[in-house]
Amino acid sequence: MEATLRILVIDDDEVDRMTVRRSLIKAGFRLQVVEVENCTEAIVTLQESPFDCVFLDYRLPDQDGLLLVQQVRQIGIRVPLVVLTGQGDEEIAVDLMKAGATDYLVKSRISSDSLARVLRNAMRVYQAEMEAALANQRLRESNELLIHKNQELEIQRQQIQIQNIKLVEASRLKSQFLATMSHELRTPLNAIIGFSQLLLRPGKRTLLPQQQDMIQRILNNGQQLLALLNEILDFSRVEAGRLDLRPDTIVLSDVVNATVNEMRSLADEKQLELAVQINLRRPRAFNDPNRLRQVLINLLANAIKFTDAGRVSVSVSDPSDNMVQIVVQDTGIGIAPEDFDHIFEAFRQVDQSRSRKHPGTGLGLAITDSLVRMMQGSIQVDSTLGQGSTFIVQLPRAVPLPEEATASLLPLR
Ligand code: ADP
Repeated sequence: MEATLRILVIDDDEVDRMTVRRSLIKAGFRLQVVEVENCTEAIVTLQESPFDCVFLDYRLPDQDGLLLVQQVRQIGIRVPLVVLTGQGDEEIAVDLMKAGATDYLVKSRISSDSLARVLRNAMRVYQAEMEAALANQRLRESNELLIHKNQELEIQRQQIQIQNIKLVEASRLKSQFLATMSHELRTPLNAIIGFSQLLLRPGKRTLLPQQQDMIQRILNNGQQLLALLNEILDFSRVEAGRLDLRPDTIVLSDVVNATVNEMRSLADEKQLELAVQINLRRPRAFNDPNRLRQVLINLLANAIKFTDAGRVSVSVSDPSDNMVQIVVQDTGIGIAPEDFDHIFEAFRQVDQSRSRKHPGTGLGLAITDSLVRMMQGSIQVDSTLGQGSTFIVQLPRAVPLPEEATASLLPLR
Protein backbone atom coordinates (compact mmCIF):
# COMPACT_ATOMS: atom_id res chain seq x y z
CA MET A 1 0.00 0.00 0.00
CA GLU A 2 1.30 3.47 -0.92
CA ALA A 3 2.25 5.74 2.00
CA THR A 4 0.17 8.86 2.67
CA LEU A 5 1.72 11.88 0.98
CA ARG A 6 1.77 15.24 2.72
CA ILE A 7 1.04 17.90 0.13
CA LEU A 8 1.03 21.67 0.61
CA VAL A 9 -1.04 23.70 -1.85
CA ILE A 10 -0.31 27.45 -1.90
CA ASP A 11 -2.96 29.37 -3.82
CA ASP A 12 -5.25 32.26 -2.95
CA ASP A 13 -7.95 30.90 -5.26
CA GLU A 14 -10.03 28.34 -3.47
CA VAL A 15 -11.32 26.76 -6.70
CA ASP A 16 -7.78 26.21 -7.95
CA ARG A 17 -6.77 24.64 -4.62
CA MET A 18 -9.73 22.33 -4.82
CA THR A 19 -8.88 21.39 -8.42
CA VAL A 20 -5.42 20.33 -7.37
CA ARG A 21 -6.70 18.37 -4.37
CA ARG A 22 -9.41 16.57 -6.33
CA SER A 23 -7.19 15.77 -9.28
CA LEU A 24 -4.60 14.18 -7.00
CA ILE A 25 -7.22 12.18 -5.12
CA LYS A 26 -8.69 11.07 -8.43
CA ALA A 27 -5.24 9.92 -9.53
CA GLY A 28 -5.36 7.47 -6.62
CA PHE A 29 -2.91 9.03 -4.13
CA ARG A 30 -3.43 8.69 -0.40
CA LEU A 31 -3.08 12.29 0.68
CA GLN A 32 -2.97 14.65 3.53
CA VAL A 33 -3.39 18.09 1.96
CA VAL A 34 -2.64 21.33 3.73
CA GLU A 35 -3.76 24.53 2.01
CA VAL A 36 -2.50 28.10 2.50
CA GLU A 37 -3.31 31.30 0.66
CA ASN A 38 -0.13 33.38 0.71
CA CYS A 39 3.65 33.31 0.95
CA THR A 40 3.94 34.31 4.60
CA GLU A 41 1.68 31.46 5.70
CA ALA A 42 3.48 29.11 3.33
CA ILE A 43 6.89 29.79 4.89
CA VAL A 44 5.55 29.32 8.41
CA THR A 45 3.82 26.05 7.46
CA LEU A 46 6.88 24.71 5.67
CA GLN A 47 9.06 25.49 8.66
CA GLU A 48 6.67 23.76 11.03
CA SER A 49 6.58 20.30 9.46
CA PRO A 50 7.93 18.39 6.42
CA PHE A 51 6.01 17.87 3.15
CA ASP A 52 6.43 15.42 0.29
CA CYS A 53 5.62 18.06 -2.33
CA VAL A 54 4.47 21.66 -2.63
CA PHE A 55 2.21 23.01 -5.38
CA LEU A 56 2.33 26.78 -5.51
CA ASP A 57 0.56 29.31 -7.63
CA TYR A 58 2.90 31.64 -9.48
CA ARG A 59 0.64 34.59 -8.79
CA LEU A 60 0.16 35.02 -5.08
CA PRO A 61 -1.31 38.04 -3.31
CA ASP A 62 1.73 39.11 -1.22
CA GLN A 63 4.59 38.27 -3.65
CA ASP A 64 5.16 36.17 -6.78
CA GLY A 65 6.05 32.48 -6.85
CA LEU A 66 9.62 33.13 -8.04
CA LEU A 67 10.41 35.07 -4.88
CA LEU A 68 8.81 32.38 -2.75
CA VAL A 69 10.89 29.64 -4.43
CA GLN A 70 14.04 31.70 -3.86
CA GLN A 71 13.10 32.31 -0.25
CA VAL A 72 12.31 28.64 0.46
CA ARG A 73 15.64 27.53 -0.98
CA GLN A 74 17.51 30.31 0.79
CA ILE A 75 16.33 29.27 4.21
CA GLY A 76 17.31 25.70 3.32
CA ILE A 77 13.91 24.00 3.19
CA ARG A 78 14.30 20.83 1.18
CA VAL A 79 11.09 19.86 -0.58
CA PRO A 80 10.00 19.35 -4.22
CA LEU A 81 8.42 22.62 -5.45
CA VAL A 82 6.00 22.53 -8.39
CA VAL A 83 4.92 25.97 -9.65
CA LEU A 84 1.48 26.28 -11.23
CA THR A 85 1.66 29.02 -13.81
CA GLY A 86 -1.04 30.83 -15.68
CA GLN A 87 -1.32 30.93 -19.47
CA GLY A 88 1.47 33.17 -20.72
CA ASP A 89 3.69 32.75 -17.65
CA GLU A 90 5.74 29.96 -19.27
CA GLU A 91 8.61 32.27 -20.15
CA ILE A 92 9.48 32.65 -16.47
CA ALA A 93 9.73 28.84 -16.21
CA VAL A 94 13.48 28.95 -16.79
CA ASP A 95 13.92 31.52 -13.99
CA LEU A 96 11.78 29.37 -11.71
CA MET A 97 13.88 26.28 -12.36
CA LYS A 98 17.09 28.26 -11.85
CA ALA A 99 15.76 29.55 -8.54
CA GLY A 100 15.20 26.00 -7.36
CA ALA A 101 11.73 24.95 -8.51
CA THR A 102 11.53 21.24 -9.26
CA ASP A 103 8.96 21.53 -12.06
CA TYR A 104 6.10 23.71 -13.34
CA LEU A 105 2.69 23.08 -14.86
CA VAL A 106 0.39 25.45 -16.73
CA LYS A 107 -2.87 25.67 -14.80
CA SER A 108 -5.03 25.17 -17.86
CA ARG A 109 -3.44 21.75 -18.39
CA ILE A 110 -4.12 20.48 -14.89
CA SER A 111 -5.72 17.07 -14.94
CA SER A 112 -5.41 14.14 -12.61
CA ASP A 113 -3.00 12.50 -15.10
CA SER A 114 -0.78 15.52 -15.58
CA LEU A 115 -0.68 16.30 -11.86
CA ALA A 116 0.12 12.67 -10.98
CA ARG A 117 2.92 12.61 -13.54
CA VAL A 118 4.36 15.91 -12.32
CA LEU A 119 4.09 14.83 -8.67
CA ARG A 120 5.79 11.48 -9.27
CA ASN A 121 8.46 13.10 -11.37
CA ALA A 122 9.09 15.89 -8.85
CA MET A 123 9.45 13.40 -6.02
CA ARG A 124 11.81 11.23 -8.10
CA VAL A 125 13.96 14.22 -9.08
CA TYR A 126 13.93 15.43 -5.50
CA GLN A 127 14.92 11.94 -4.27
CA ALA A 128 17.80 11.79 -6.77
CA GLU A 129 18.91 15.28 -5.75
CA MET A 130 18.84 14.30 -2.10
CA GLU A 131 20.89 11.18 -2.80
CA ALA A 132 23.40 13.18 -4.81
CA ALA A 133 23.58 15.78 -2.03
CA LEU A 134 24.09 13.02 0.52
CA ALA A 135 26.80 11.39 -1.58
CA ASN A 136 28.43 14.80 -1.97
CA GLN A 137 28.24 15.40 1.71
CA ARG A 138 29.84 12.00 2.39
CA LEU A 139 32.54 12.76 -0.15
CA ARG A 140 33.24 16.06 1.53
CA GLU A 141 33.38 14.38 4.90
CA SER A 142 35.74 11.65 3.74
CA ASN A 143 37.82 14.28 2.02
CA GLU A 144 38.07 16.21 5.24
CA LEU A 145 38.91 12.96 7.04
CA LEU A 146 41.64 12.27 4.52
CA ILE A 147 43.05 15.76 4.91
CA HIS A 148 43.01 15.27 8.65
CA LYS A 149 44.67 11.85 8.38
CA ASN A 150 47.25 13.32 6.04
CA GLN A 151 48.06 16.02 8.54
CA GLU A 152 48.40 13.39 11.27
CA LEU A 153 50.66 11.31 9.03
CA GLU A 154 52.77 14.35 8.27
CA ILE A 155 53.13 15.06 12.00
CA GLN A 156 54.07 11.42 12.58
CA ARG A 157 56.55 11.54 9.72
CA GLN A 158 58.18 14.60 11.23
CA GLN A 159 58.28 12.92 14.63
CA ILE A 160 59.87 9.80 13.12
CA GLN A 161 62.39 11.99 11.34
CA ILE A 162 63.29 13.67 14.63
CA GLN A 163 63.52 10.25 16.33
CA ASN A 164 65.72 9.08 13.49
CA ILE A 165 68.08 12.00 13.90
CA LYS A 166 68.20 11.31 17.63
CA LEU A 167 68.84 7.61 17.00
CA VAL A 168 71.63 8.29 14.54
CA GLU A 169 73.17 10.68 17.05
CA ALA A 170 72.78 8.16 19.89
CA SER A 171 74.31 5.45 17.73
CA ARG A 172 77.20 7.75 16.82
CA LEU A 173 77.77 8.56 20.48
CA LYS A 174 77.64 4.86 21.34
CA SER A 175 80.22 4.00 18.67
CA GLN A 176 82.37 6.88 19.82
CA PHE A 177 82.06 5.73 23.41
CA LEU A 178 82.95 2.16 22.44
CA ALA A 179 85.95 3.36 20.47
CA THR A 180 87.22 5.70 23.19
CA MET A 181 86.58 3.23 25.99
CA SER A 182 88.29 0.29 24.30
CA HIS A 183 91.16 2.52 23.27
CA GLU A 184 91.60 3.87 26.80
CA LEU A 185 91.38 0.40 28.31
CA ARG A 186 93.98 -0.97 25.95
CA THR A 187 96.74 1.29 27.25
CA PRO A 188 96.73 0.00 30.86
CA LEU A 189 96.04 -3.51 29.62
CA ASN A 190 99.10 -3.43 27.40
CA ALA A 191 101.13 -2.41 30.44
CA ILE A 192 99.73 -5.38 32.40
CA ILE A 193 100.49 -7.78 29.53
CA GLY A 194 103.94 -6.28 28.92
CA PHE A 195 105.01 -6.41 32.56
CA SER A 196 103.73 -9.95 33.07
CA GLN A 197 105.67 -11.05 29.98
CA LEU A 198 108.72 -9.34 31.42
CA LEU A 199 108.32 -11.13 34.74
CA LEU A 200 107.92 -14.47 32.97
CA ARG A 201 111.11 -14.11 30.92
CA PRO A 202 113.26 -17.28 31.29
CA GLY A 203 116.30 -15.36 32.61
CA LYS A 204 114.48 -14.14 35.73
CA ARG A 205 114.30 -17.11 38.03
CA THR A 206 113.56 -15.17 41.19
CA LEU A 207 109.87 -16.16 41.17
CA LEU A 208 108.43 -19.07 43.10
CA PRO A 209 106.50 -21.57 40.91
CA GLN A 210 103.23 -20.45 42.48
CA GLN A 211 103.98 -16.79 41.71
CA GLN A 212 104.95 -17.71 38.17
CA ASP A 213 101.65 -19.53 37.76
CA MET A 214 99.76 -16.46 39.01
CA ILE A 215 101.57 -14.16 36.59
CA GLN A 216 100.91 -16.58 33.72
CA ARG A 217 97.21 -16.34 34.57
CA ILE A 218 97.40 -12.54 34.62
CA LEU A 219 99.01 -12.69 31.18
CA ASN A 220 96.42 -15.15 29.78
CA ASN A 221 93.47 -13.17 31.10
CA GLY A 222 95.03 -9.91 29.95
CA GLN A 223 95.45 -11.28 26.44
CA GLN A 224 91.89 -12.55 26.41
CA LEU A 225 90.65 -9.15 27.52
CA LEU A 226 92.77 -7.45 24.87
CA ALA A 227 91.26 -9.68 22.17
CA LEU A 228 87.77 -8.69 23.34
CA LEU A 229 88.66 -5.01 23.36
CA ASN A 230 90.13 -5.26 19.89
CA GLU A 231 86.92 -6.88 18.69
CA ILE A 232 84.82 -4.04 20.17
CA LEU A 233 87.18 -1.45 18.71
CA ASP A 234 86.97 -3.05 15.28
CA PHE A 235 83.21 -3.21 15.51
CA SER A 236 82.95 0.48 16.36
CA ARG A 237 85.25 1.24 13.41
CA VAL A 238 83.06 -0.83 11.10
CA GLU A 239 79.96 1.01 12.34
CA ALA A 240 81.64 4.37 11.81
CA GLY A 241 82.86 3.26 8.36
CA ARG A 242 86.44 3.78 9.52
CA LEU A 243 87.77 0.29 9.01
CA ASP A 244 90.10 0.23 6.04
CA LEU A 245 91.98 -2.33 4.00
CA ARG A 246 95.68 -2.08 3.31
CA PRO A 247 96.11 -4.59 0.54
CA ASP A 248 99.47 -5.93 -0.52
CA THR A 249 100.75 -8.79 -2.58
CA ILE A 250 100.70 -11.84 -0.33
CA VAL A 251 101.50 -15.54 -0.56
CA LEU A 252 98.24 -17.06 0.51
CA SER A 253 99.66 -20.28 1.95
CA ASP A 254 102.03 -18.25 4.19
CA VAL A 255 99.21 -16.18 5.66
CA VAL A 256 96.96 -19.23 6.14
CA ASN A 257 99.63 -21.48 7.63
CA ALA A 258 100.88 -18.79 10.01
CA THR A 259 97.34 -18.07 11.20
CA VAL A 260 96.48 -21.73 11.67
CA ASN A 261 99.66 -22.20 13.66
CA GLU A 262 98.69 -19.32 15.93
CA MET A 263 95.50 -21.21 16.74
CA ARG A 264 97.11 -24.63 17.11
CA SER A 265 97.63 -24.43 20.87
CA LEU A 266 93.89 -23.77 21.35
CA ALA A 267 93.02 -26.85 19.28
CA ASP A 268 95.61 -28.91 21.13
CA GLU A 269 94.13 -27.92 24.48
CA LYS A 270 90.85 -29.51 23.39
CA GLN A 271 92.62 -32.40 21.64
CA LEU A 272 91.17 -31.47 18.31
CA GLU A 273 92.87 -32.30 15.05
CA LEU A 274 93.65 -29.10 13.13
CA ALA A 275 94.34 -29.72 9.45
CA VAL A 276 95.26 -27.40 6.59
CA GLN A 277 94.91 -28.18 2.94
CA ILE A 278 96.26 -25.80 0.34
CA ASN A 279 95.25 -26.44 -3.22
CA LEU A 280 96.21 -23.37 -5.22
CA ARG A 281 97.15 -23.10 -8.88
CA ARG A 282 98.47 -19.59 -8.32
CA PRO A 283 99.99 -18.90 -4.90
CA ARG A 284 99.69 -15.10 -4.75
CA ALA A 285 96.85 -12.76 -4.03
CA PHE A 286 96.39 -9.04 -3.41
CA ASN A 287 94.80 -8.55 0.00
CA ASP A 288 95.34 -7.05 3.45
CA PRO A 289 97.24 -9.84 5.30
CA ASN A 290 96.11 -8.60 8.74
CA ARG A 291 92.42 -8.41 7.83
CA LEU A 292 92.57 -11.78 6.07
CA ARG A 293 94.20 -13.21 9.18
CA GLN A 294 91.43 -11.65 11.26
CA VAL A 295 88.75 -13.35 9.12
CA LEU A 296 90.50 -16.70 9.50
CA ILE A 297 91.07 -16.26 13.23
CA ASN A 298 87.41 -15.46 13.84
CA LEU A 299 86.25 -18.51 11.90
CA LEU A 300 88.88 -20.81 13.43
CA ALA A 301 88.29 -19.52 16.96
CA ASN A 302 84.58 -20.27 16.57
CA ALA A 303 85.25 -23.68 15.01
CA ILE A 304 87.49 -24.63 17.94
CA LYS A 305 85.22 -23.03 20.54
CA PHE A 306 82.09 -24.83 19.36
CA THR A 307 83.74 -28.25 18.77
CA ASP A 308 84.31 -30.65 21.65
CA ALA A 309 85.69 -33.61 19.73
CA GLY A 310 86.89 -34.41 16.24
CA ARG A 311 88.53 -32.07 13.83
CA VAL A 312 88.76 -28.57 12.46
CA SER A 313 90.06 -28.09 8.95
CA VAL A 314 90.96 -25.19 6.72
CA SER A 315 91.21 -25.57 2.99
CA VAL A 316 92.26 -22.94 0.51
CA SER A 317 91.71 -23.22 -3.22
CA ASP A 318 91.32 -21.03 -6.29
CA PRO A 319 88.29 -22.22 -8.28
CA SER A 320 89.15 -19.64 -10.95
CA ASP A 321 91.94 -17.22 -11.80
CA ASN A 322 90.20 -14.28 -10.08
CA MET A 323 88.67 -16.13 -7.18
CA VAL A 324 90.02 -17.56 -3.97
CA GLN A 325 88.02 -19.81 -1.66
CA ILE A 326 88.67 -20.49 2.01
CA VAL A 327 86.64 -23.17 3.76
CA VAL A 328 86.67 -23.66 7.55
CA GLN A 329 84.99 -26.85 8.63
CA ASP A 330 84.40 -28.37 12.06
CA THR A 331 82.73 -31.37 13.64
CA GLY A 332 81.15 -29.30 16.42
CA ILE A 333 77.69 -28.58 17.77
CA GLY A 334 76.39 -27.17 14.49
CA ILE A 335 73.87 -24.37 13.84
CA ALA A 336 70.15 -24.69 13.09
CA PRO A 337 69.19 -23.39 9.62
CA GLU A 338 66.87 -20.75 11.12
CA ASP A 339 69.92 -19.20 12.82
CA PHE A 340 72.07 -19.01 9.68
CA ASP A 341 71.22 -15.36 9.00
CA HIS A 342 71.15 -14.18 12.63
CA ILE A 343 74.66 -15.31 13.51
CA PHE A 344 76.08 -12.61 11.24
CA GLU A 345 74.24 -9.88 13.12
CA ALA A 346 76.17 -7.90 15.73
CA PHE A 347 75.85 -9.18 19.32
CA ARG A 348 73.85 -12.21 18.13
CA GLN A 349 74.64 -15.58 19.62
CA VAL A 350 72.60 -18.74 19.16
CA ASP A 351 72.78 -19.41 22.89
CA GLN A 352 71.96 -16.11 24.57
CA SER A 353 71.14 -17.60 27.96
CA ARG A 354 73.01 -16.36 31.02
CA SER A 355 74.34 -19.83 31.60
CA ARG A 356 75.81 -20.22 28.12
CA LYS A 357 78.88 -22.44 27.89
CA HIS A 358 80.89 -20.53 25.35
CA PRO A 359 82.26 -17.06 26.02
CA GLY A 360 82.29 -14.32 23.38
CA THR A 361 80.91 -10.93 22.41
CA GLY A 362 78.80 -12.04 19.46
CA LEU A 363 80.75 -9.59 17.27
CA GLY A 364 83.19 -11.97 15.56
CA LEU A 365 80.99 -13.00 12.64
CA ALA A 366 79.54 -9.47 12.22
CA ILE A 367 83.07 -8.12 11.82
CA THR A 368 84.07 -11.05 9.60
CA ASP A 369 81.05 -10.48 7.39
CA SER A 370 81.88 -6.76 7.07
CA LEU A 371 85.52 -7.48 6.30
CA VAL A 372 84.60 -10.03 3.65
CA ARG A 373 82.19 -7.58 2.08
CA MET A 374 84.83 -4.86 2.12
CA MET A 375 87.01 -7.29 0.21
CA GLN A 376 84.04 -7.62 -2.18
CA GLY A 377 83.68 -11.26 -1.31
CA SER A 378 80.96 -13.35 0.26
CA ILE A 379 80.53 -15.67 3.22
CA GLN A 380 78.14 -18.59 3.53
CA VAL A 381 77.39 -21.11 6.20
CA ASP A 382 76.23 -24.67 5.93
CA SER A 383 75.62 -26.69 9.04
CA THR A 384 73.82 -29.61 10.60
CA LEU A 385 72.99 -29.58 14.29
CA GLY A 386 75.15 -32.05 16.18
CA GLN A 387 77.35 -32.78 13.17
CA GLY A 388 79.32 -29.63 12.48
CA SER A 389 79.52 -26.44 10.48
CA THR A 390 81.19 -25.27 7.29
CA PHE A 391 81.93 -21.60 6.61
CA ILE A 392 82.80 -20.82 2.98
CA VAL A 393 84.49 -17.53 2.18
CA GLN A 394 84.89 -16.50 -1.44
CA LEU A 395 87.14 -13.58 -2.24
CA PRO A 396 88.42 -11.91 -5.37
CA ARG A 397 92.10 -12.72 -5.84
CA ALA A 398 92.78 -8.98 -5.90
CA VAL A 399 90.70 -6.97 -3.44
CA PRO A 400 89.77 -3.35 -4.27
CA LEU A 401 91.95 -0.46 -3.16
CA PRO A 402 90.91 1.35 0.06
CA GLU A 403 88.67 4.10 -1.42
CA GLU A 404 86.62 1.59 -3.41
CA ALA A 405 86.45 -0.76 -0.44
CA THR A 406 85.14 1.88 1.95
CA ALA A 407 82.57 2.96 -0.61
CA SER A 408 81.33 -0.63 -0.91
CA LEU A 409 81.10 -1.18 2.85
CA LEU A 410 77.49 -1.88 3.58
CA PRO A 411 76.00 -1.55 7.05
CA LEU A 412 76.45 -4.54 9.31
CA ARG A 413 73.88 -7.29 8.87
P1 ADP B 1 80.81 -15.24 19.48
O1 ADP B 1 81.62 -16.38 18.95
O2 ADP B 1 81.61 -14.18 20.13
O3 ADP B 1 79.62 -15.66 20.28
P2 ADP B 1 80.30 -14.76 16.67
O4 ADP B 1 79.74 -13.57 15.99
O5 ADP B 1 81.67 -15.18 16.28
O6 ADP B 1 80.19 -14.48 18.23
O7 ADP B 1 79.31 -15.96 16.43
C1 ADP B 1 77.94 -15.78 16.66
C2 ADP B 1 77.27 -17.07 17.05
O8 ADP B 1 77.26 -17.97 15.93
C3 ADP B 1 77.96 -17.84 18.14
O9 ADP B 1 77.60 -17.36 19.43
C4 ADP B 1 77.46 -19.26 17.88
O10 ADP B 1 76.17 -19.40 18.45
C5 ADP B 1 77.32 -19.31 16.36
N1 ADP B 1 78.51 -19.94 15.72
C6 ADP B 1 79.50 -19.30 15.08
N2 ADP B 1 80.41 -20.18 14.58
C7 ADP B 1 79.97 -21.41 14.95
C8 ADP B 1 80.45 -22.74 14.75
N3 ADP B 1 81.58 -23.00 14.07
N4 ADP B 1 79.73 -23.75 15.27
C9 ADP B 1 78.58 -23.53 15.94
N5 ADP B 1 78.06 -22.30 16.18
C10 ADP B 1 78.75 -21.25 15.68
